[in-house]
Amino acid sequence: MAEWEPVVGLEIHVQLKTRTKMFCRCANAYATEPNTQTCPVCLAFPGALPTPNETAIEWTLKLGLALGCEIAPRALFHRKHYPYPDLPKGYQISQYDEPLCVNGSFVVPGDDGDFEVGIVRAHLEEDAAKTIHVGGATGRIVGAAHSNIDFNRGGTPLVEIVTRPDIHSAEQARRFLQLLRQTIVELGISDAEMEKGQLRADANVSVREQGEAGYRTRTELKNMNSFSHIARGIDAEVRRQVATWEVGGEVVQQTLDYEVKSDTVTPRRRKEEADDYRYFPEPDLVPVEPAAEVIERLRADLPELPGTRIRVLAADVGFDHAVDLVTTGNEHKARLLVEHGLDWPTAANVAMNQLAAIDPLPENGPALVAIIEQRDAITREALTASFADSAVGPLDADAVLAHHVVADTSELEPLVDRVLADSPGQVAAFRGGKQGLLGYFVGQVMKETQGKADPKVVNELLRTKLG
Ligand code: ZN
Ligand code: MN
Repeated sequence: MAEWEPVVGLEIHVQLKTRTKMFCRCANAYATEPNTQTCPVCLAFPGALPTPNETAIEWTLKLGLALGCEIAPRALFHRKHYPYPDLPKGYQISQYDEPLCVNGSFVVPGDDGDFEVGIVRAHLEEDAAKTIHVGGATGRIVGAAHSNIDFNRGGTPLVEIVTRPDIHSAEQARRFLQLLRQTIVELGISDAEMEKGQLRADANVSVREQGEAGYRTRTELKNMNSFSHIARGIDAEVRRQVATWEVGGEVVQQTLDYEVKSDTVTPRRRKEEADDYRYFPEPDLVPVEPAAEVIERLRADLPELPGTRIRVLAADVGFDHAVDLVTTGNEHKARLLVEHGLDWPTAANVAMNQLAAIDPLPENGPALVAIIEQRDAITREALTASFADSAVGPLDADAVLAHHVVADTSELEPLVDRVLADSPGQVAAFRGGKQGLLGYFVGQVMKETQGKADPKVVNELLRTKLG
């Protein structure tokens, strides 16, 4: 049987966190009250004229540079026409054949070698408003009683990034997106939270036989709102296409939704041709001509990018930990601990687990390291509290380390005996095979000691007595 190769290109939309919208001065911010951040421009009143947001243009250039793109000396805004209730002008202002950034390449580090994803373009456009379908089970238009439109999102700035079909597995797609997301976050241009729709990705998927030249028909996969859904969606679509070709069928170009629950794809609508949008240059906006000194300033200001740091960090903590630390934004916590003498593996572990939701103050580095190095000698409660406190104010290591665990067997043994004597039913059940009850006995001893007993010693005592 033939070996099949998935061919995947991604289209990513990123909401920029500029203070104002793309073409008007309405706030670009989350509002609980619908339709409170609108004006004649973003509601498309007759005669209202767009004024481009300079910050949004600069941030798009910044992202383009981080993606290794060429910056166009002259870019144009186009009108992209399609009728939809959440698009009051009847067109979206977007970019077409003269986008701001073209021809980039983004290198994704891998433990089995880096892979490179070509960037076709990164352009700037405005978002549509938000349609909320009410009364249906799925939140989609099918089955809904009526629909509301919230124009607060209408006209907010979006960057659209289009990759070349250089991605050859669901896992590669996930890793590319994770690194892209972290890069965007570190550039400070978007929070890029997928669950909030600030980063949305569609995948163009086709398959071909290993060694085959050219591409077969592709489908477009939409409606995926997490990295794992994207990976699973691509896998499901690849399976479907391979099965189709293998029985002599034909893959049809179409747009598909990935259904998480059933792990299947369902058709949405026939793919429009680009011509259907009747693109033409926006007559109300002049061309954008980024000044050379602006581009050079932005290039000089680029921080060291996550991809580069992963490669360096991998030497210290191994590739997987390096990727996790960098793409979860926990890297600086591990660095703080290492800086004050903790070893990399422990620092990486603590940064990604106990400190995952905590951002310690830098001045607490030395105290944290002292506490972590002696964590087996203090109670779990004191340890947990010290992590939480490290984000709030100065941490006193000595005070924390005074919360000793009781590891003395002569002190713990009578307690263990009493707990076992008080629970004859559970003891019988344990001896009858319910090994899970060990946790119950440990819990009882911990309760007796207000959490001060050393769980390791308690475990050993219990096992001896129950064995
Ligand atoms: Zn407005
Ligand atoms: Mn778009």
